[in-house]
Amino acid sequence: MSKVNMLGRRNFIKGLGAAGAVMAAPAMAASVNAKGVKWDETVEIAIIGSGFAGLAAGIEAARQGCKSVTIFEKMPVFGGNSAINGGLFAAPQTPMQKEKGVEDSVDRMVNDGLKAGRGIADEALLRHVASHAMEALQMTIDAGAVYHPYLQQLGGHSVPRTYQTTVSCGAGITQPLLGECRKLGVNMVPRTKFKGFILDDAGKVVGVRLNQGYYFEDEDAGVEKEINVRATRGVIMATGGFAQNVDLRMAQDPTLTAEVGCTNAKGATGEGMFEMFRLGAIPVHMAHIQSGPWASPDEGGFGYVSNYSIFNFPHSIAVNRMTGKRFMNEIADRKTRADAELACRDAEGKPLPPIMITSYEHAKQHPNCKKVLKYGVGWKFDSLEALAKHFDVPLKPLQEQVEEYNGYVKTGNDEQFGKNMGKAKGKYLKAPFTVVRLWPKVHYCQGGVQINTKAEVKDSFTGKRIEGLYAAGEVAGGMHGVSRLGSCSIPDCMVMGMTAARSIMGA
Ligand code: ADP
Repeated sequence: MSKVNMLGRRNFIKGLGAAGAVMAAPAMAASVNAKGVKWDETVEIAIIGSGFAGLAAGIEAARQGCKSVTIFEKMPVFGGNSAINGGLFAAPQTPMQKEKGVEDSVDRMVNDGLKAGRGIADEALLRHVASHAMEALQMTIDAGAVYHPYLQQLGGHSVPRTYQTTVSCGAGITQPLLGECRKLGVNMVPRTKFKGFILDDAGKVVGVRLNQGYYFEDEDAGVEKEINVRATRGVIMATGGFAQNVDLRMAQDPTLTAEVGCTNAKGATGEGMFEMFRLGAIPVHMAHIQSGPWASPDEGGFGYVSNYSIFNFPHSIAVNRMTGKRFMNEIADRKTRADAELACRDAEGKPLPPIMITSYEHAKQHPNCKKVLKYGVGWKFDSLEALAKHFDVPLKPLQEQVEEYNGYVKTGNDEQFGKNMGKAKGKYLKAPFTVVRLWPKVHYCQGGVQINTKAEVKDSFTGKRIEGLYAAGEVAGGMHGVSRLGSCSIPDCMVMGMTAARSIMGA
């Protein structure tokens, strides 16, 4: 270890001193030594990124008494990827669970996460988030977020514990959080891109280098000024995942080419994470990139179908069009389902997107049902015959499958795939039917920098934390292991954002 130390961060930091002093082209430089740096601004806490993690960190920092906290965001609008997902929030022991008689606990939620994590999830982080999830949910409600009056049971969760915003979108949370930031005096600056860290001689992060007036569509255009911002208390990196960085995701998994759909905002490119790696942060679980099994190949991004199918999976069947048969537990964890969908192929081995069949009577309970039909990314059929003809599915096996499945609805026991039939109770499959096609899209990076339950970033050279540096949200890795459960990202981001602020403020 000491050998590695000698070659490690101290020498790197010394080197930065020289580089910082002589480098004529700062656009090429990343992190620099503070010696000789001209500070353009001083804040107590600098937060990079304005998704769930950055916003929760900003609010909590202000509540903990921080007088000067600034969120820097590279895009022209705030909210990042967080603003364009399903707005699904899992927490145990919530008021709605009590009202509906759902028995749940922190242990139960942790165990569900560990199971989906397939032995490599970080139990301490999962427990920390589950223990504080209700607090984070309350933060959103206090800020003005409004949720549907029902709970959903998402894949891999053993009980219904998921709230969803009435707008069925993350913006139903980011917008109220932005409002709360403004109310609390959190300063927010768009079009300002993080380039690198500024370090003191001991390697502590004491500031950040930023490009002001940054224009995402063209890296070289529009940068008005490079600025150095001193952060007297610390820097929180909340820069999200890297699902839109095709080179990086293909380096982990060559099958995730540019042709594979992605639900993420364009800014999910991962450079904040790289810079932490360059500083010595430990990369964890980089190859575990999750695809959403609820997505449709008939529309771009998250679209309308994703929310529609997340809501409907518990009382629907997913059918392989070659066989007319179910091929998975429709509410298994995301990886199990995505892998099963990717295996649906035609006789030549080409992708054959499977279909999800729902009784229209139940499908129409979801607000997206109308849009799915209106925009031609979903179809309605008066009979199984018409449905089978349209999608070229063998009719007899399909009829038998529907009959068999309705038997499971009756007994509450899915003998085919062991699906939890709690939410399917009384919901028999019958005409008219609504159908969407399914094909996984790249959605979430389980990998990132290693953090602890204080949101501190560990240094691979020293084994200690990197002073002055905190990370929260999707940029951090390891918590969820192989497969993150749906609706666990918002509590993860928010709790770790709040935690980072508390750690800095000594709360
Ligand atoms: P999380 O869900 O973890 O909070 P999001 O993806 O919602 O993550 O938000 C991350 C935000 O960070 C996005 O708005 C993204 O544009 C922003 N971001 C990413 N990289 C940088 C960077 N280099 N400088 C400034 N902002 C960044």
